[in-house]
Amino acid sequence: MSAPRVLIVASEGMPFVKTGGLADVVGALPKALKEAGVDAAVMMPKHSKIRREHQDELETVATTTFHLGWREKYLGIQTMEAGGIPYYFIDNEDYFSGAVYLGGDTENEQYLYFCKAVCEALSLIDFSPDILHLNDWHTGMIPLLVRTQYAERFEKNVRLLFTIHNIQFQGMMGFEVMKDMLNIPDFYNTPEFAEAGGCANMMKAALVFSDKISTVSPGYAHEIMNAYFGLGMEGILSARRHDVVGILNGIDTEEFDPGADPAILGHFTAANLTNKRLCKRALRDEFDLDIRLTTPIIGMVTRLTSQKGLDLVRYALEELLQEDVAFILLGSGDAAYQDFFHYIAAKYPARTGVYIGYDEVLAHRVYAGCDFLLMPSRFEPCGLSQMIAQRYGTLPIVRKTGGLVDTVEPYNKFTGEGTGFSFGTFNAHDMMAAVRLALSVYRDKAALRKLRKNAMLSDNSFKRSAEQYKALYKSMR
Ligand code: ADP
Repeated sequence: MSAPRVLIVASEGMPFVKTGGLADVVGALPKALKEAGVDAAVMMPKHSKIRREHQDELETVATTTFHLGWREKYLGIQTMEAGGIPYYFIDNEDYFSGAVYLGGDTENEQYLYFCKAVCEALSLIDFSPDILHLNDWHTGMIPLLVRTQYAERFEKNVRLLFTIHNIQFQGMMGFEVMKDMLNIPDFYNTPEFAEAGGCANMMKAALVFSDKISTVSPGYAHEIMNAYFGLGMEGILSARRHDVVGILNGIDTEEFDPGADPAILGHFTAANLTNKRLCKRALRDEFDLDIRLTTPIIGMVTRLTSQKGLDLVRYALEELLQEDVAFILLGSGDAAYQDFFHYIAAKYPARTGVYIGYDEVLAHRVYAGCDFLLMPSRFEPCGLSQMIAQRYGTLPIVRKTGGLVDTVEPYNKFTGEGTGFSFGTFNAHDMMAAVRLALSVYRDKAALRKLRKNAMLSDNSFKRSAEQYKALYKSMR
């Protein structure tokens, strides 16, 4: 049987638009699938950044209109190739000329439009998929539409895979909004279909109507079957447990390559780590830290939300700063956390560096220049930061949840094995114990060298994930 043709549909993706880990996955997966012999293409909104940066490279496939409830809406489909992968962009300036996520009801409307536009676009593009690989709630209404209103449009029975990257965001709204925009009959507003917790829910609809469901780590696949992590989706996920799989994400090992990364000052490999010191010195100077190079630097590159365990950091950081350490944060998000880090930076200028904002190039320098990466997440579907850090010989200190369990092998002081440090309970003192263990290993040069090597050599590439996706796609046909 020939390999299936797969259309990956998502709200964002590298190398075009990124606000978080979803974009990294949507960037790396098609490339790795191609290498594994799977014909993959990507469809996403034509966000304003794409309009600004790629307008001249885009070719128009079709322009048309369709009905979104009572509204007649424009649909442009444009295409270009990047890295040998065909990309299709859904163009409509009413929805995609501002932020990638407009927030609140407007965001629901933005992505209800996107779901229907994708269904319309499928018969207009020159790529006929066997599998639609849908990602997160922004694509959540596509399975219901494909199986109902669009069922007769497709000659072949397209199969539907829905991947949960983060179950915290579900696309919830009053049913009247969904009905008004997609003409969905009232009987879908029931717990059997699109209703959850008293409102219409795009992720719920996806979990009901998709053929298979995947999430981004085996650990998270297990966790989301219970209410604490499942956030209302645990019932449908438990009912469909035989259709749920966890496939660990990987990272783009070309984009994150300490041996060739143009963003960093000195290149290094697992066999020769000498230049990591240069990266550390450059990072120290960039953040104006007044420390010796022997002082360990703990970094964070993160969205500033409670998911990332920032309450533990807020609780314990001043205690941590009593030790001989420096701390660097690159992040943006909730104002309360931003304020806290501004306060810390003002109070401890010699040993803390804080950059509030989103900066991909700076992120590379932080990963390369730090000694440790702190990631005490409350929950973590997979997490990429800890894998990127490992690739740069920067040892992650993580909480044992979701994908962090699957990707960080905790240091074993008896064998010297491991790729990082971890703690279990969501508690600041437990986190501090893990940090202190990391700091003690830092002082043991041989142990540190070994852990760094292990971390750099661990296979976090997308190759492994792509093989698993390929097997899953094949099993769906
Ligand atoms: P999530 O997708 O939940 O935000 P992940 O760890 O899966 O978390 O992926 C986060 C990705 O976004 C990583 O590639 C990380 O380097 C990047 N990132 C997060 N915050 C920033 C920031 N402020 N600047 C640059 N890159 C960031």
